[in-house]
Amino acid sequence: MDEDEQTQESTTNNKKKPATPGRSIDIYAAQCEKCFKWRKIDTQEDYEEIRSRVQEDPFACEKNEGMSCRDAGDLDYDSTRTWVIDKPGLPRTPRGFKRTLVLRKDYSKMDAYYISPTGKKMRTRNEIAAFIHANQDYKDALLGDFNFTVPKVMEDTVPCGISRK
Ligand SMILES: [Zn+2]
Repeated sequence: MDEDEQTQESTTNNKKKPATPGRSIDIYAAQCEKCFKWRKIDTQEDYEEIRSRVQEDPFACEKNEGMSCRDAGDLDYDSTRTWVIDKPGLPRTPRGFKRTLVLRKDYSKMDAYYISPTGKKMRTRNEIAAFIHANQDYKDALLGDFNFTVPKVMEDTVPCGISRK
C-alpha cells in the first residue's frame, strides 16, 4: 500500500492497490527509479522489505528477477484500479504477525490493523504491547516495528459514483 500525491518523493515509493470489491490490497507494486515503470511485487513480505529500505536502496526493474527497464511495465497508474501509496521506510511486520489494510466503504482512507500469531486482531500499539507482554514467545518483536501509518488513497483513482464524506 505507499504517500503523497504525484510528488517526486511519492513516485519513488512503492504502492499497493486495493480491489474495488474487496477493499483490501490485492496487488503490490513498486516503481522503478530509472524508467518509472511499475513492477508487480509478488508477496506482502517482499513488498514490505522493499518499502522499508526504499530510501537507501531505491527500487529498480532489475530487482525483479529476469526483468530490466526494457521490459514493458506490469501495470499502469490509472483509474482502472484504486491506488494507494505508502510512506517509504515503514518497518517490516515482525515475524509471525500479519499487517492488514482495509479501505473504508467511502474510499476516504484505509485502516491498519495487525493479526497476532494466535489470530488476535489488534488495532492499537497498546493492544500489541499487552499481547507481547502476555506472550513471552513474541517478546523479541519490537514495538517500534508495529506501525499504523496508512497509505494515502489516490483521489484520482477512486471509482466514479463513490460518495465520500
Ligand atoms: Zn526500470
